[in-house]
Amino acid sequence: MKILCVLYDDPKDGMPKDYPLSKLPKINKYPDGQTLPSAKSIDFTPGELLGCVSGELGLRKFLEDGGHEFVVTNSKDGQDCEADKHIIDSDIVISQPFFPYYLTRDKIEKAKKLKLAITAGIGSDHVDLQAAIDNKIDVVEVTYCNSRSVAEHIVMMIVSMVRDYHSQYKIVCDGGWNIADAVQRSYDVEGMHIGTVAAGRIGLDALRKMKPFDVHLHYFDRHKLPDAVEKELNLTFHESVESMVKVCDVITINCPLHPETENLFDAEMIGKMKKGAYIVNTARGKICNREAIADALKSGQLSGYAGDVWFPQPAPNDHVWRTMPHHGMTPHTSGTSLTAQARYAEGVREILECFFDGTPIRDEYLIVKDGDLAGAGAHSYSKGTATGGSDEAAKYKKG
Ligand code: NAD
Repeated sequence: MKILCVLYDDPKDGMPKDYPLSKLPKINKYPDGQTLPSAKSIDFTPGELLGCVSGELGLRKFLEDGGHEFVVTNSKDGQDCEADKHIIDSDIVISQPFFPYYLTRDKIEKAKKLKLAITAGIGSDHVDLQAAIDNKIDVVEVTYCNSRSVAEHIVMMIVSMVRDYHSQYKIVCDGGWNIADAVQRSYDVEGMHIGTVAAGRIGLDALRKMKPFDVHLHYFDRHKLPDAVEKELNLTFHESVESMVKVCDVITINCPLHPETENLFDAEMIGKMKKGAYIVNTARGKICNREAIADALKSGQLSGYAGDVWFPQPAPNDHVWRTMPHHGMTPHTSGTSLTAQARYAEGVREILECFFDGTPIRDEYLIVKDGDLAGAGAHSYSKGTATGGSDEAAKYKKG
């Protein structure tokens, strides 16, 4: 079989010769009891870079020993990109949300042999899910592999943005000591109202991690949490996003991108938020309207916006979120720490082993199966596509 794998660029100075930590901490299972990725064996050292081209998700030996052709590329956008040449006769495509290969309907329809699209991570909106349904291409992801990594990033972003860490760090780097400048936008998180749009694996973990800050916690989700969890965290459930944003100082967005959530935070929704609130979005860039966010930061309707997700990715160099005031953006990194990479690389291997052996892929990894939403996909997505406009990624130029 032919397997096409799209991964992000290697480090500018080549692969690291050593790493800060010699070993990753051991984790036994996820909080709800789901087991960690469990491939029969792995050919990589956990803690090393796996998500970039030379890391190859640690899959080359396994795939070539099995007699498969394995193509790894970072050329994924624009006419004549390598990925488009290879997708035509590939059986399986692997891509990561951090550096997504946008599998539009057009590409899916040209890929006559394609059977399986694997997301090395979580969030499969870079695949036109409706086209995958229509063409009976299965879509799977490594559910839970980096959910808790993202929740850590959310806590970091809430605290750093409310306290205005970025300005203070910059003052130090610039050789300054003006304390009044450093604190004129700095607050404590304690006592604030924090709300999450969606309380799935990431949203719930972010709530749990914020609880010790002595804040008031709110959520909106299309699935209500068990009463015991609501009680444990003293949660306020809202029937709508609008009702929640009216009362919250910080909103964190943790739903998948699908037609119901695309452009959810437009000028109208942002206008309903408490004045001076903060948004942390590590879900997907397209859930927030690009211009409306920048405008709200300029007017003061929002005090800050942070996250690691953009649309498209890589973000064009002139993307306004790179330069808007009071932002705390990172590239798409929260789910690809070295720790998370080890989990999703093993998860992809587990999925491939099942596929080649003809054994079922775990239900919780399924997004689309046999022409319908399935597993985690049926729980968390709605049918339709959200890949429109992704060709703009070709506008990114390496500096
Ligand atoms: P999950 O499936 O456990 O949770 C998703 C939750 O969203 C579910 O509870 C679902 O009911 C809810 N939901 C779906 N549509 C909704 C809607 N219209 N309104 C309200 N709630 C809705 O998934 P997860 O592990 O928590 O991940 C969530 C999303 O976070 C992913 O789909 C992905 O887009 C994003 N993510 C980002 C990164 C990153 O590196 N930044 C990494 C992992 C996941």
